[in-house]
Formats: sequence, structure tokens, C-alpha cells
Amino acid sequence: MNPSRALLACFFAANLAAQASPESLRTASERLKAEAIRTQGAYADLAWLCDRIGHRLAGSPQLDQAIAWAQERLKAAGLANVHAEPVLVPHWVRGKESAQLLLPATRPLNILGLGGSVGTPEGGLTADVVVVGSFDELDRLGTAVKGKIVLFDVPYTGYGPTVIYRFSGAAKAAKHGAVAALVRSVGPVSLDTPHTGMMEYDPAFPKIPTAAVTIEASTQMRRMQQRGERIRLRLEMEAKTLPDAPSANVVAEIRGSEKPEEVVILSGHLDSWDVGQGAQDDGAGSVIAMEALRLIQNLGLKPRRTLRLVLWTNEENGLRGGLAYRDAHRAELRNIVAAVESDSGSERVVSFHLDLRQLGAEAKASALASLKGAVGGVMSPFGVTFQLGGSGADVGPIVDEGVPGLGMEHAGTHYFDIHHTQADTLDKVDKDDLAFNAAALATFAYALAQSEVGFR
Ligand SMILES: [Zn+2]
Repeated sequence: MNPSRALLACFFAANLAAQASPESLRTASERLKAEAIRTQGAYADLAWLCDRIGHRLAGSPQLDQAIAWAQERLKAAGLANVHAEPVLVPHWVRGKESAQLLLPATRPLNILGLGGSVGTPEGGLTADVVVVGSFDELDRLGTAVKGKIVLFDVPYTGYGPTVIYRFSGAAKAAKHGAVAALVRSVGPVSLDTPHTGMMEYDPAFPKIPTAAVTIEASTQMRRMQQRGERIRLRLEMEAKTLPDAPSANVVAEIRGSEKPEEVVILSGHLDSWDVGQGAQDDGAGSVIAMEALRLIQNLGLKPRRTLRLVLWTNEENGLRGGLAYRDAHRAELRNIVAAVESDSGSERVVSFHLDLRQLGAEAKASALASLKGAVGGVMSPFGVTFQLGGSGADVGPIVDEGVPGLGMEHAGTHYFDIHHTQADTLDKVDKDDLAFNAAALATFAYALAQSEVGFR
């Protein structure tokens, strides 16, 4: 054997010794699954979060309560290094809001102001409505919408292509002199449920109030316009933005037994919109990440690398949690093996997306192969697939800096039906799915922590 081959053989032997055997991983996973089903800890936490704390917008007292509660729960579980890392967050408040159709018929409309919107002048505003189906149609109308309310009635063709109307509708309408903008709620179906969400103004144009109407109301106004009827509407919104408020990311760990400096992050975001209970977005992601760490701790498993839970603040309207984490942890970003985020609901996990933003196609393919090699076997009973793709909004800022992101992707059969609505409540969450997801995440994170795998 020549020296280089001897060295290589040595390397492989050492590597094999250091890796957990597939057998021991599988045993650990079976125990994690049984424990998740026995304790139903994720569901119990989500029930408390939803029923006792409620929705949790950045800057709200409920989010502060959730941050304190999560730390208590994690300390009670005996986890290490439980603490809150301070973050300043935007503080938008909705206030009272209402809309009333005045012509061609009189009736109240169910609306939700969009996050970041300004309010109407005191006493509200009344104007005629112009319905458009696209930005192009709006541009063709141009100054014809001056002094009017523009309604973007755009059918849902998927979140990405449709959400741009919610995000930029007000800015585009203001450019042509509109006094307010309404957007058809971004979702595939509706039980007269308006969907809120973030919007952004263009500093070049006036800030006009903007709200979501339901699919029912939006399509009705389109029909009225098609019949040549004059549509007139009164809108009243008290929305305003207050000075930034103190908030925090919550952190807890199981320190690695052999390589504590190498870190696998598991995460979800604790904040939500100010409607419903934020059960699936993202109470579910938060509690399965909490439960995953707790299951590993309770079973006395000793990960070689550090497992770190991060419960992000302010995903919904600012991403300040993810940005602050990047800034505070720059020195150790090299040592973060992967940052896993669960933010696609409470239905069963179907895949993990590996997000490598600084690598070329070949390096990405080889990283994906190492991921499958490290965890594919032990994850096969969960029926999940592994692919390249996007990870999560909160881990985004560190993923941009080269940290490998891993998006835990859930079946989204009904995710967008209730996304950002009053209907995002606990009754839509399946207990068994939550236990399954907690066990899957625990297994996945533990297997990564036992391995030598790296993705960059
Ligand atoms: Zn979310």
C-alpha cells in the first residue's frame, strides 16, 4: 500500500468509527417516535400557545408572553443554555377597521388591513372602486384611477405569483393617484375569510391605506363592474406603525458530546399575524422544534454535535429575528453545519429542501448526495424525500452567508386555505401529524448531529 492509500484507508476507518451505525440510528429513531406519540408534547404546547396566549404579532404583549413561556418550557425540560437574544422589531397595530359597500347595493364587507398599511383619514374615506385583474391592466387605465379605490381581483394561481398583488398593490395604485387599494385575498378557497399579510410602499409615491377583501366580495365587485354598475365603498382603518419594540429570539441547546462547536439548528418562528391563533403559521413549526429537542433530551441521547433550537421573532413583518441572529453570530457561522426551519404548516412532513446559495450546480448535487448518505436510511420510514430548494425565511440571512439551509416541507393540502386568517386555529391541526413531525425532525437533527457530514 502506498503512503497516500494508507492515509486514505486510515481516514475512512476513523470516519467510520466516528459515524453512528445505521442500526443505532434506527433504534434511536424508533424510540423518538414512540416517545413523541406517548407524550403528545408538541400538541400540548401548541394548545397552550393557541388557547392561552393566542396570536402573536411583533410588538404585541402576546408575543412577549410566548417568548417568556417558551423559555420556561425549555428550562423545565432540562435543556442547556436557554435564553432570549434581544431583537428590535417593527410595531404595527391594526386598530379598528371596517368597509361598507354603498353602491350599487349596501352591505358590510369583511376585510383585513394589510401589515404595514397606514390608516384612512379620521372618519374614513369614501370613493368609487375600479376593479383590475393585473398590474398591466392598471397601467393601461393610468390616471383613470385617480381619486378612486383600486381593487386587484387576481385569482390564486399559487402563493408566489399571486402574493405580489398583496405586497405591491398599494404602491402601484398610488403611482396612478388612487386613494386606497384593496386586494383579493391570497388563497385558493374562502369561507368569506380575508387573508392579511405584509405589504410594502414605494417611497416615491404616497402611502395609501390597503386591505384584503374576501374572494366572495372581490368576485362580486368584478361582476358589478362588468354589468356597468357604479361601485362605491367606504373604508375606515385605524392602522398605524409605532416605534420599534423590544423582542427576542429564544434559544436552547443540547451541547454536543464530542464536537460542541459544530451546531445543527432546528427552528420555527414564534410570531404570527394578529388574527386567529397562528396555529399552523408557525405555532406548529415552533412546537415541533421544541418537542424534537425535548424528546432527544428525555431519552438521554447524546448528540456528538450541538443541537440548537431557535424560535425566531418577527418572521411575518420584518425578518428582524433572522437578521439579528446573523449579525450576532457572524463569528460562528462557519461552524453551523445546517439550519433547519419548519414554516410550512402542521400537515405531515414530505421532504427536506437543501438550500445552498453559494455553491455551483455540481457542488450542490454532491452535497445533496452526502445528505442522503447521512440521513436517507434512518429517514426512510418517514417517507420523506430530499431535494435542492428553498429553506426558510428566518434562516435566509445566514443561508445567504453560506450556512446550509434545510427547509422542512409539509404537505400543504389546506395550508393556504387558512394562511394569515382568523381561521388559523388549533382545531385545524392533527395531533398525530404533529407527533409524527416532531419525531421526524428529532430523528433528522439527531442523525445530522451524529454524522460527520458537511454541505460546503
Ligand atoms: Zn410562517
